[in-house]
Amino acid sequence: MRPPICEVCRRKAVATVAFADYEPLPDGMVGHPRGLGWFCRWHVAGARALRRHSMGRVVGVLRAASVIVVVGSTVAAVAAAALWIGS
Ligand SMILES: [Zn+2]
Repeated sequence: MRPPICEVCRRKAVATVAFADYEPLPDGMVGHPRGLGWFCRWHVAGARALRRHSMGRVVGVLRAASVIVVVGSTVAAVAAAALWIGS
């Protein structure tokens, strides 16, 4: 597992989210599974709302939408990200 650092903003992460491209590690293998990301308290709701997409796509969209979090709310950022990603 990677250390608990948010995939979007590099702040301390609080939870992991598994995305559409999640692939668990085979038994006995160490490392970080593909499609599983750590997220901070500001980005975990957006990541969960968009979990049916690939992690790379969601992280890119949430990074772009983070500007909205600064001036608005997490809900607004998630709505903007959902529109952007096409869901
Ligand atoms: Zn974050």
